[in-house]
Amino acid sequence: MDVSARIEDAYAQLVRRNPGEAEFHQAALEVLPALEPVLAAHPEYLDARIVERLCEPERQIIFRVPWVDDRGVVQVNRGFRVEFNSALGPYKGGLRFHPSVNLGIVKFLGFEQIFKNALTGLAIGGGKGGADFDPKRRSDAEVMRFCQSFMTELHRHLGEHTDVPAGDIGVGAREIGYLFGQYKRVTNRFEAGVLTGKPVGWGGSYARTEATGYGTVHFTQEMLRTRGKRFDGRTVTISGSGNVAIYAIEKVHALGGRVVACSDSFGYVVDEKGIDLDLLKEVKEDRRERISAYAEARPGAVFSARGSLFDVPCEVALPCATQNELDEQSAIALVKNGVQAVAEGANMPCTPEAVKILREADVLFGPGKAANAGGVATSALEMQQNAARDRWTFAQTEARLAAVMTDVHTLCRTTADRYGSPDDYALGANAAGFLRVAEAMAAQGVV
Ligand code: NDP
Repeated sequence: MDVSARIEDAYAQLVRRNPGEAEFHQAALEVLPALEPVLAAHPEYLDARIVERLCEPERQIIFRVPWVDDRGVVQVNRGFRVEFNSALGPYKGGLRFHPSVNLGIVKFLGFEQIFKNALTGLAIGGGKGGADFDPKRRSDAEVMRFCQSFMTELHRHLGEHTDVPAGDIGVGAREIGYLFGQYKRVTNRFEAGVLTGKPVGWGGSYARTEATGYGTVHFTQEMLRTRGKRFDGRTVTISGSGNVAIYAIEKVHALGGRVVACSDSFGYVVDEKGIDLDLLKEVKEDRRERISAYAEARPGAVFSARGSLFDVPCEVALPCATQNELDEQSAIALVKNGVQAVAEGANMPCTPEAVKILREADVLFGPGKAANAGGVATSALEMQQNAARDRWTFAQTEARLAAVMTDVHTLCRTTADRYGSPDDYALGANAAGFLRVAEAMAAQGVV
């Protein structure tokens, strides 16, 4: 059987085995065809059935999360942890709390995470988890009880050398605190390295909060540099207004760019003067309000509940909210308005149709598994600091983050060149990530 038939076969098996998991299918379809030239050069990985093994998680945990709300009513949610691949290190990947969470979404995120973590060059395997719980409409006490119930079950699967979760959509410092507190209580161990994204005061790393957004901008800057361009003076749009978006905005402004639009799930704001970051942080981080409250407080800013943020003219667009938010129509609008670079701060925010349009228009495209790898890389740096009972300064940690992002960018570029697709960062990221994992899996035998 030739290489492309083997890949098609592996994909068909994945679809058959995981019915209805559309996002997982999409993530696999983005990676597998890109591996064709790699597998042609490495037939030993075909013999070892590395692709088939990579597509099957090592372990999938699904559990009931019962808890009592503030009215005394019993609530039941569903928790997930997919431990996808441990060839390079303990399973590593965030927890997402959002009503849309299901097994297919967790698997898509876990699958992506394997390659992303490999690209960082750090000793971390791939995993992901979460629950169909919505922290947004809940009091702090409710969020605490939910987190305690979630961790009461999950703790038996975790450990600093086994599986190390972090945050994702809906899981920030508050949730990590409650999760860590319950882990400590039920295990009777202060095992700092079991969760990352902790506050700096008790085991967290400086720059972890900023890492994904900063890293995405750093990666984009490296892409722009290959065409003799810089952020300085450029107009930028960034979707979302959560952790990744906020710190991407901060870094773009530091580099002299101007972010003129951001969003949440209710709509987007356009602020031609440039987003006022202090106000945005106050609205989204302190007051936990809708993005419309930003426009109400900021003269000249306009809120729209309809249409798309990606219709707003810009030279650089950074989708930093959620999967499949930037579709074909958005890509057409961006190209029409002269966009020069798009990098994914979120995981899989661009649909396959959108990516095709951007690539055909010769727009620089940074795929999430490379562009947003700064978050998990800094989580791995947090694990290093925990293991050494040490704490680095903000400057030291940010310098390590920047070095990792530069290396990831170089690796994607050189790998794309090697396989005859210059400038194709998606191919470079998939191939380079795969090679690192495949080499380790082959060396570790059939396990
Ligand atoms: P947050 O929860 O902090 O923020 C998410 C943002 O996206 C919010 O503005 C939210 O709006 C918006 N959003 C979420 N779901 C939807 C939706 N269905 N439609 C429209 N907007 C939506 O999450 P993060 O910033 O941490 O994560 C954002 C993305 O980045 C995710 O794809 C995540 O997987 C990815 N990522 C995060 C990393 C991290 O370190 N945090 C690391 C690597 C990737 P609203 O508040 O209205 O829901």
